[in-house]
Amino acid sequence: MNGSSMPVNQEVYLSSLSTQLVQRSLHSVWHPCTQMQHHETVPLVAVRNASGPWLYDHDGHRYLDAISSWWVNLFGHANPRINAALKHQLDTLEHAMLAGFTHEPVVALSEKLSAMTSGVLGHCFYASDGSSAVEIALKMSFHSWRNRGLGDKKEFVCLKGGYHGETVGALSVTDVPVFRDAYDPLLKPAHCLMSPDARQAKDGETADQVALRAAQALETLLQARAAHISAVIIEPLVQCAGGMAMHSPLYVQEVRRLCTAFNVHLIADEIAVGCGRTGKFFACEHANIWPDFLCLSKGISGGYLPLSLVMTRDEVYQSFYSDSMARGFLHSHSYTGNPLACRAALATLQIFEEDDVLAGNLVRAEKLSQALQPLATHSRVKHFRQQGMVWAFDAQVDDPQLAAAFSRRFFTSALAHELLLRPIGTTVYLMPPYILSDADTGLLAERLQTVFDEVMRA
Ligand SMILES: *Cc1c(COP(=O)(O)O)cnc(C)c1O
Repeated sequence: MNGSSMPVNQEVYLSSLSTQLVQRSLHSVWHPCTQMQHHETVPLVAVRNASGPWLYDHDGHRYLDAISSWWVNLFGHANPRINAALKHQLDTLEHAMLAGFTHEPVVALSEKLSAMTSGVLGHCFYASDGSSAVEIALKMSFHSWRNRGLGDKKEFVCLKGGYHGETVGALSVTDVPVFRDAYDPLLKPAHCLMSPDARQAKDGETADQVALRAAQALETLLQARAAHISAVIIEPLVQCAGGMAMHSPLYVQEVRRLCTAFNVHLIADEIAVGCGRTGKFFACEHANIWPDFLCLSKGISGGYLPLSLVMTRDEVYQSFYSDSMARGFLHSHSYTGNPLACRAALATLQIFEEDDVLAGNLVRAEKLSQALQPLATHSRVKHFRQQGMVWAFDAQVDDPQLAAAFSRRFFTSALAHELLLRPIGTTVYLMPPYILSDADTGLLAERLQTVFDEVMRA
């Protein structure tokens, strides 16, 4: 057959390319957070390119990235400013090891982030993913006490519904059954306390009162066990992967007060809630406190490259400073402080400054909240909630079969309406990038309602 003389049917050509790619992927790529058999019915989307909030597949379909590609993308895909910074960095220095060497991007990023905490968290330790940042914070907390002669402090406190990653150490302080159950025998037990989740309010109780109840549970534990406890780890303001459970900043204040009083570290896992997601750059700023360790990842590189870091206080840093190697923090990752990732982070922080993003997000959030009003008052929507650039609600699903398949059905139906959405169980949430136009905001709200009605009718 002479291919060159055949009229090319663009659509058939494209769709066969997409089908092929999906087939090859299912043969060779083991996808994360996925029961692979579900792909017999749930579509796998072969994304070809992306721009702004839109992802495009090989068939020419588009999808509004309403969850910022797992909460990492802040300023849209193929952002011209981040692209330009990365292209320049690529021709300058792609990578060098960070032991015995340093470089401008990692220094500039550390200085900038430290200044954003007024120097309180003045030391930055780098890794490549969020879970590793959590591992670092846990190890550093324990080792810091040990270096000060308090080696008995080796237990950790976490919260019900909390999520801190899926490596063995991080999973030990995670309380999300779907990720944890199979591996429970491998994990070091942690103290798992009442969450301040405001949805637990009893009749007439305010979010602050729930927060105080949860803080009381922590106080009771610390009174009994503080001598054995190294740190408390929390996701300030929003427990994200556990189902977008929101709480009062009063809880964060109370945890800070108790940790100080009982000589226990506070680890703020801001991997999801940091970088402006809750309305302030750091979620802890809502409570006017600084933790002892602050973990960042996800949005810090604008969604471009794997990067995570742990920021800590001089007091912790000094507890390792010695002429003895064994007292040092002996933890490393091959790509620690990767210059390209740090450059992407610097470009991201520059956009925050130049565009006054936090102020702009107030306006964006108001518009999307307005557009979501019909859903907020929908008869089958429970606990509609919002914090900064996070929106969530719980679907009132009575049929257990629908509840079990809800997230997959929602994902599939959303794709058919050009939206990328992935509910957590029956909790539907939005975490859009900070760049939605008014038109995209309207489209998102309208189609979300259509998808919701479609799934609930099924
Ligand atoms: C995503 C997340 C992590 C883990 O980050 P990975 O990069 O996926 O390892 C840890 N903590 C919180 C709060 C997260 O949302």
